[in-house]
Amino acid sequence: MTTKMPTVKFTKLFINGDFVDSISGREFETIDPRTEEVIARIAEGSKEDIDVAVKASRVAFDHGSWPRMTGVERARIMMKWADLIDENAEEIAKLDAIDAGKLYHFCKAIEIPSAANTIRYYAGAADKIHGEVLKPAREFHAYTLMEPIGVVGHIIPWNFPSSMFVTKVAPSLAAGCTMVLKPAEQTPLSALFYAHLAKLAGIPNGVLNVVPGFGPTAGAALCSHMDVDKVSFTGSTKVGREIMCAAANSNLKPVSLELGGKSPLVVFDDADLDKAIQLAFLGVAYNKGEICVAGSRVFVQEGIYDEFEKKLVEKAKTWVIGDPFDSKVQQGPQVDKKQFEKILSYIEHGKREGATLLTGGKRVGNKGYYIEPTIFSNVKEDMLIAQDEIFGPVMALMKFKTIEEAITSANNTRYGLAAGIMTKNLDTANIMSRSIRAGTIWINCYFIFGNDIPYGGYKMSGFGRDFGLEALHKYLQVKSVVTPIYNSPW
Ligand code: ADP
Repeated sequence: MTTKMPTVKFTKLFINGDFVDSISGREFETIDPRTEEVIARIAEGSKEDIDVAVKASRVAFDHGSWPRMTGVERARIMMKWADLIDENAEEIAKLDAIDAGKLYHFCKAIEIPSAANTIRYYAGAADKIHGEVLKPAREFHAYTLMEPIGVVGHIIPWNFPSSMFVTKVAPSLAAGCTMVLKPAEQTPLSALFYAHLAKLAGIPNGVLNVVPGFGPTAGAALCSHMDVDKVSFTGSTKVGREIMCAAANSNLKPVSLELGGKSPLVVFDDADLDKAIQLAFLGVAYNKGEICVAGSRVFVQEGIYDEFEKKLVEKAKTWVIGDPFDSKVQQGPQVDKKQFEKILSYIEHGKREGATLLTGGKRVGNKGYYIEPTIFSNVKEDMLIAQDEIFGPVMALMKFKTIEEAITSANNTRYGLAAGIMTKNLDTANIMSRSIRAGTIWINCYFIFGNDIPYGGYKMSGFGRDFGLEALHKYLQVKSVVTPIYNSPW
């Protein structure tokens, strides 16, 4: 049975509780990566629209009810929003599938319900935000208040439009902040749908504004705005650097950055071989390799290397690529032409650098941005395909002898987002987990995320954590209040 395509209902900017045209009247096209055809024309936000949205957000923060409600009241509204998301999971999954080429059935069953649960997790935390009573110094009594940081600017990428949206919005809402979110220009559709549901749930006007538009215009305006109190960003390391500069050059707003990665998966001789092959393959094929923690460098110990390589290639050849609405399909198209061409050019570079192309390497079909899962062996650590984030289904497979060698190789990257370790030896697992400089270590598993598991980078993968109570604290600040208990000369 073919799935009915969604009707795109929301194409305008969502500012102060209303869907509005952009001030310039300009629009941009969002493209279906399966067909390379236009899905819809979206109002294009620019600096002037960001100004209006920030103003609405400022008023909602300075004078509105949201930061002044009790945590329980905020939680009740957030819970309602989460329920509405569950009720509309099918529709939202369709939007993410046509906009980003994501697997429809997976989104409907897993990603959208998980997004709703992320909102529930932070709703549960909204009434547990409190400061501390401090040990009085002499005749003084002191305590801390945890206050919402203010107006937040969120900038998100296109690879997980739903998860990214809630990962940023939910903790900041729970904290009592107001916000302007700029979705990626490739994937604005579900963000606008979430805004519509937020209004239905009772999130007051001006608290959550969604302004689609491009990075150098709308995004940059948000980062350099004097009335934005914090920017939370997920995207490339290059743009992360620009955002930090814009924040520093304007009002010194704090930023948190979740950036690129080149994560290692290290497979020791004693690992469960079939599981290691499965995870190594999924490490680059899941979500078409469009995931910051893709296990794009796979290091295999020499004792099992040959068998590992042979079975990995067999596995890649059984992978089903095609329309993400088909339930048998395991990989849809890359998000857009730019990414598609970038990945293919990295593959060509890998061949030119002298790595061995074991499987894949080509476009699939002649319409849509489909690319075969691609595995290179004989990769040297200084090759571009072993150093740069490709953000596609491309693996660099390498061999190692000793644990010392594995540690050095795993850390031989400017990034530090995640790492996987496959071994049955507890000592090996412990030594590796402590030696790899990365924000998440998966032992005998991969891609395990949880609302309560903090997630973020070391090194050039950024700083600040999403998920967990760490994320809530990014949107709070501490105020110390001191008062005399009895007459004090001070
Ligand atoms: P990618 O290269 O994978 O598309 P980017 O880091 O370029 O990732 O984009 C992630 C998000 O950052 C998108 O929403 C994009 O519009 C935004 N962005 C891009 N450039 C800038 C910029 N100079 N300032 C603020 N946001 C930007």
